[in-house]
Amino acid sequence: MRKRKEADRTTGADKYREAARAFACPTCGAGIGQSCIGANGKGRVSVHQARGDLGRPRVRYENAWASQIEVVGDMHVEGYVTYGIRHKATGQFGYVGQTGHFSKRIRSHASGAYRGSKKRVACGLRDILSAGGTVEFLLLERCENEAQSLVMEAKWVGILATEGHSLTNRWLDHQRIIREVQDLDVL
Ligand SMILES: [Zn+2]
Repeated sequence: MRKRKEADRTTGADKYREAARAFACPTCGAGIGQSCIGANGKGRVSVHQARGDLGRPRVRYENAWASQIEVVGDMHVEGYVTYGIRHKATGQFGYVGQTGHFSKRIRSHASGAYRGSKKRVACGLRDILSAGGTVEFLLLERCENEAQSLVMEAKWVGILATEGHSLTNRWLDHQRIIREVQDLDVL
């Protein structure tokens, strides 16, 4: 048993090292369960990178879902954009966002969903993708700057909520827009 300064607390780094120690180290040759050996011949707290990689193979959504993610519009567009995320089969939008790096944002949404993010947008993506469905990222507006992309984002939240799409946007401003649209429906 290793001693801990604070009892009952397992950090992410602890878990990472434990998982890695289930393998012999390719760098220093430390056996299963043993500590890695540093340059001075003494045990090190951290495991070598190559051993860490064995314990935590990179989870890449691309391997599982690449063919289920489609982009409508130029995913390599430069500058700020407003985008929407839609379930292709139903045509239902689940989210509207803005970003200065569209392709990077698509990757981060998909990888967040794959890695088990609890964000509502990630859960929505995961539900569709893990059931074999296809998700579309639509370039809705190309914008001059960030401020404009935020205005357009709010505009599209209003448009899509009016059309009956149930958006999972969490911004207070967006929730207010969505609520206002729903109140109108009630009247
Ligand atoms: Zn090692």
